[in-house]
Amino acid sequence: MSKLTQTEKLSKVFPSYGRFDISLVKGKGSWVWDDEGNKYLDFTCGLAVTSLGHAPEKVGAKLKEQIDTLWHVSNLFHIPGQDKVAQLLTENSCADQVFFCNSGAEANEAAIKLARRYQQKIKGVDRYEVITFEQSFHGRTLATLTATGQQKVKEGFLPLPAGFKTVPLHDLPALEAAIGDHTAAVMLEMVLAEGGVLEVQADFLQAVVELCKQHGLLLIVDEVQTGMGRTGKLFAHQHYGIEPDIFTLAKGVASGFPAGVMLGKDYLREAFSPGSHASTFGGTPLAAAVMSATIETMLEDKLPERAAEMGSYLKGQLTEKLADCSFVLDIRGKGLLIGIECKSAVGDIVLAGQKRGLLFVTAGPNVLRLLPNLYVSKEEIHQAVDIVSELIHTYAEQTDGEANS
Ligand SMILES: *Cc1c(COP(=O)(O)O)cnc(C)c1O
Repeated sequence: MSKLTQTEKLSKVFPSYGRFDISLVKGKGSWVWDDEGNKYLDFTCGLAVTSLGHAPEKVGAKLKEQIDTLWHVSNLFHIPGQDKVAQLLTENSCADQVFFCNSGAEANEAAIKLARRYQQKIKGVDRYEVITFEQSFHGRTLATLTATGQQKVKEGFLPLPAGFKTVPLHDLPALEAAIGDHTAAVMLEMVLAEGGVLEVQADFLQAVVELCKQHGLLLIVDEVQTGMGRTGKLFAHQHYGIEPDIFTLAKGVASGFPAGVMLGKDYLREAFSPGSHASTFGGTPLAAAVMSATIETMLEDKLPERAAEMGSYLKGQLTEKLADCSFVLDIRGKGLLIGIECKSAVGDIVLAGQKRGLLFVTAGPNVLRLLPNLYVSKEEIHQAVDIVSELIHTYAEQTDGEANS
């Protein structure tokens, strides 16, 4: 059978994604297979989603059990599975309350709505503005793309909703100047993952916390990509010893089942009074079963600790193999969220990696991003590091040659 081109395969789907020419049809653990039987080592994990590896058995068993029991009921009824997830998440974080939804963007929408409603209804002040940072990424809904500090997600979508300001990261005077009578909250990621795997500096974060206290602003941490063990703690803000008023989860929270969670402190509770916010599919019995199985597995198998250990091993191996390569400017990240910043665009390295049987992605034009699952073995790390470092060396020589010719 002749292979259909990507355009032929996808002609009935809006072409909003720039897709690779690979169709993945099967996955197990760290490995995925395409429709031609080629096998790949997956250092993408659905972009930090399948943190337990593909088709994790314990979670799969709970999902199958729930499929035979009850799929969906309205949130007009109590859903016992939600209590269990809420218990697990609040016991292991600074949060006291949770709201269930279906995606990262929706969790951030819920966070923005909760911040506005708390300031306006509970504190009785005219505050609605959310300050965010350049290079951040918060989602693709109108509010969350407005919050996102990257021009490319906003093009063609004017007018954008009011009530957002963006300032440069690590620029305290700019942040202070942006705070006004209408500011309700500051929102940021602990590692700006889409923006180039940029870690927030601890002293800057402490200053943000202080400013929020001083001005009565809520601190919202977007943990959609950094949460659920990825960075070496269950939640990345725990590295810094801070307690956000609100934080959000999605990607890694349900092993690939669509789910999002917005978590907040108890004093925010009354702001989401009955009827104030809702989601048909938020925290269904199916989603709740998958979330609790995912979280329990992560805690039982100490996956945040494992991510920390394997992350520093991966970073060490990369540093060793790429130490003499002037094409590489920086190797950074926390846990198993690793960025390799290079001198020029690295898209071709990703494509070359696919030919060698390794899947990884970029984070902005010049940064390679490695996101293995949290069970990744040292042997798999060696395989990936060998391929990545070889490709970078080859590519660096080529571009050097071109620059000198
Ligand atoms: C992926 C991501 C989002 C958006 O999540 P969706 O589930 O795609 O809506 C928001 N914030 C961050 C930090 C992300 O990485």
